[in-house]
Amino acid sequence: MPKKPYTHAKGFNITSLQGKSILYLFRNKRGKVIYIGKCEDDFKDRINSHDYGISRKLTPVIHYITVVIVDTSIYPLYVLEHLFIWCLLPSKNEAVWLFYGNEEDEIIQIAKEKKLYITGSVKEFLLSFESVVIEREWEDISAKKYKRYGELEQLSSKKVNCNGKRSCLCINCLLDRQSVRWKRTAP
Ligand SMILES: [Zn+2]
Repeated sequence: MPKKPYTHAKGFNITSLQGKSILYLFRNKRGKVIYIGKCEDDFKDRINSHDYGISRKLTPVIHYITVVIVDTSIYPLYVLEHLFIWCLLPSKNEAVWLFYGNEEDEIIQIAKEKKLYITGSVKEFLLSFESVVIEREWEDISAKKYKRYGELEQLSSKKVNCNGKRSCLCINCLLDRQSVRWKRTAP
């Protein structure tokens, strides 16, 4: 088996993310978010660290990572992380640490106290961030679950535009589909 290129970790091509501050959303084949984390240093290390142990987060069902790119000089990363968790309640995140309650007004106030200034609705705010989707690949072609490692790509080529389909991986569709918050407050 050939040696894995430095640019990949566990089937994910993360070349263009080195040195960036990010949130990462582990998603299954249907696009459901299973786990959300944050990373301000070596994303490759972080991915590898999620692939073992009793609380393993990067199981074989993880097929995509949505990466949200964050300017941490403006936004406190851990507060934003918990805001995404509050919205999506991924099964492998243990608790909603920072945000309690169901009302958006309360959440916006708590965020403000933590120096995360939300303009507009929570959903509009989350949609204002740049994001990309990385599909899982694999270097071993006999592992048919994943496509073979492709060419190295620019970050911009991993951006996802909404196609309006059930399989759409954009954040707008994700928030509509998985957030328990908007469903609860819907008329
Ligand atoms: Zn979409």
